[in-house]
Amino acid sequence: MAVRGKVLIVEDDRAICSFMRRVLEANGYESIIVGTGREALSMLTSHCPDVVILDLGLPDMDGIAIIEKVRGWSGMPIIVISARNEDKDKIEALDAGADDYVTKPFNPLELTARVKSQLRRFTQLNPGSDKGKPETEIQIRGLVINKENHKVVVYGEEVKLTPIEFDILYLLA
Ligand code: CA
Repeated sequence: MAVRGKVLIVEDDRAICSFMRRVLEANGYESIIVGTGREALSMLTSHCPDVVILDLGLPDMDGIAIIEKVRGWSGMPIIVISARNEDKDKIEALDAGADDYVTKPFNPLELTARVKSQLRRFTQLNPGSDKGKPETEIQIRGLVINKENHKVVVYGEEVKLTPIEFDILYLLA
């Protein structure tokens, strides 16, 4: 199965981590697990995950602080998981920039569905990006569409299109 996306799991409870990893991998997602906020921040910059699943109660820092840091440079989807079920925490996490919120204990299928929906939403909001990564060229068999210079090549031959025709073709691709 092709990898659907890379998920960074930030959670200090090992049992929950391995459980989440099993469920995500069974559904085609690659996962990276870290147990501290410090490791999370270093993984976020070095591994560019597509989605982050973040526990709010970490041993070295509050998950809210991580959301605020990430939002300083990235709009990547963040799903918060927490045992705290008070509305105050949810509101604080969402205010800081989290995209979704799941309270422990959670249904693994629900978590997977939320990961999927966040990936879809992020890709839709960032057209021309493949799971959030910039991409200027789309290739489908003999067809090459370059977004940057609006060039369309079919089996080695350039095809002239109006800007509207180009946009439609690009959207379809
Ligand atoms: Ca925790």
